[in-house]
Amino acid sequence: MTNGWPRNGDYPDDPVIPRQKVIAYRITDSKSRSAKIKVMLACGQHAFEFTGNWVLEGMVDFLVSDDPRAIALRQNAEFFVYPDLNPDGRYQAIHGLAFQAAQDPNVGTNLRMRGNPEIYAAGERDHNRLWETNGKFSTIDLFKATWLKDTGGEAEYFWDIHGPQQTGNWRTPRAEARTNRYAEALMQREPEVIRCGPESGFKVKVAAGPPGKLMLYAMSGQGLRVRYPYIYEPGGWTMERLFDSGRNLMLALYDAIGDRKSGAANASLLA
Ligand SMILES: [Zn+2]
Repeated sequence: MTNGWPRNGDYPDDPVIPRQKVIAYRITDSKSRSAKIKVMLACGQHAFEFTGNWVLEGMVDFLVSDDPRAIALRQNAEFFVYPDLNPDGRYQAIHGLAFQAAQDPNVGTNLRMRGNPEIYAAGERDHNRLWETNGKFSTIDLFKATWLKDTGGEAEYFWDIHGPQQTGNWRTPRAEARTNRYAEALMQREPEVIRCGPESGFKVKVAAGPPGKLMLYAMSGQGLRVRYPYIYEPGGWTMERLFDSGRNLMLALYDAIGDRKSGAANASLLA
């Protein structure tokens, strides 16, 4: 549970935030004794980016399905799922659309920057710039501690899913992750989603920095040693398309790591 937040005397029209559940779960085939790769899936940092959760829903619905490729993935991987990294912010986004304390004259009504009183009280605006902090933000501390316990401090893949952008895009701060087998599979499964970086010229400057981003923390070795960190910003699609998009991200993972029993796997990725 989060701590929740009382009424802010300076902004009496803003809602009280009750304590919120912090949800995490694991999807795998517990009977399979194969050595499994670890895949982390997270969403909700920017409280108003609701559509990212439809992508995550598409991922999860596929992973728990009877599709033989999902069965193979469950046998060969374990998925650690964190549907909402900013529960207090999401509550505000749903219940306090006029959240006055978060109005920043410098960013106008940019909703992406709104939705977590703890962050604003500290003079910060963006949840995805805080991952190098310790002892300052309650849910940042909570998730960092949780991930260490859940994963043992390392994972092969980590998706940080965000909300609609024009154009739909994905990126990674690690060069190898742009060109590995999974990246190739992603571009085949989602050809209209742009890979940020040098060739496309799209979002070249944000491919890595600035500091404090989750994907930089995830691969930093300070706690998590994620081999292939990815961020996803789906396009402004329909709900069905967003579900399909999540499914495609997981089908691409199947393409990349395959089914070891069938001999289709990329052995180097599973070593
Ligand atoms: Zn975002």
